[in-house]
Amino acid sequence: MFPLELNAEENDKKEDIDKEKMALYKKTEALTNISWFYLAAIDQYEKHSQKETASDDLISITIPEINWFGIGNPSKDKTSAWISMFNGFGQDGNGDGTADPTDDEDILYSMASFIERQGKTRQDIKIALWKYYQRELTVQTIMNIAKVYQTFNTITLEDNDFPLPLNMNFSYKNTWGDARGFGGRRIHEGTDIFANYGVPVKSTTYGVVEIKGWNRYGGWRIGIRDVQNRYHYYAHLNGYQEGIEVGDVVKPGDVIGSVGATGYGPPGTSGKFPPHLHYGMYKDNGYSEWSFDPYPSLKRWERNARNSK
Ligand SMILES: [Zn+2]
Repeated sequence: MFPLELNAEENDKKEDIDKEKMALYKKTEALTNISWFYLAAIDQYEKHSQKETASDDLISITIPEINWFGIGNPSKDKTSAWISMFNGFGQDGNGDGTADPTDDEDILYSMASFIERQGKTRQDIKIALWKYYQRELTVQTIMNIAKVYQTFNTITLEDNDFPLPLNMNFSYKNTWGDARGFGGRRIHEGTDIFANYGVPVKSTTYGVVEIKGWNRYGGWRIGIRDVQNRYHYYAHLNGYQEGIEVGDVVKPGDVIGSVGATGYGPPGTSGKFPPHLHYGMYKDNGYSEWSFDPYPSLKRWERNARNSK
């Protein structure tokens, strides 16, 4: 483990912003009894989904105006009494008498109040998120981010690790987009890291195990969703680290399995190609998921890991 991709100055700035955000999450928790890590997870999810947020906004949650002011509300009058007449979403969090859809405190408080009306348990929060987002993957991702934040008791989780131990023999090159024969016309969505059978495979990020099991192409594979709403796919494993299950929280460097050559057939098929880790990265924008080239990240993580030795 080692500090990230930002330079020292950017890193300090991000830590200051994280502290400021954390103070606002905790304040809103005190007012609404909704745990800070759920609010932080919603905020983080929206930051990394489709919406563009102005850089000076501390909080990335965007609530559509129609919801904020209420359906049928003829005016954009921000007094909370007026908004509540139209069952608007907007609430006054900072006590200035207005519910302002561009004010960070009002936005966060409004979201927390919406959840609070459903209840405070984990299940209540899931239901409230479902009502608001109406998308299973979004709800699951927010709940998983919350779990990671709760586990480490912080939102500053920027470290990464290279997926294989540096003292082992391995090699990889950029094969993004290469043609693949098995299973019809496909392109290669990932990087193959060739190594011997049994070499440990580590999580590259903080996250939660989302998928574990057999897949026709990937063999024994594991999928981890990180706190930036990226999905990391580790395929062709020889086996899994003992005890690792769907829903487990992981951190960079945690061993999740070992290199193998499984896949390209029914469960248990192995040895149809040389042993390697297939590593893929996917991004979700709140509507759909797409893969992107993990090679630059792998190169960076490998370099950082070597420098930190
Ligand atoms: Zn591959």
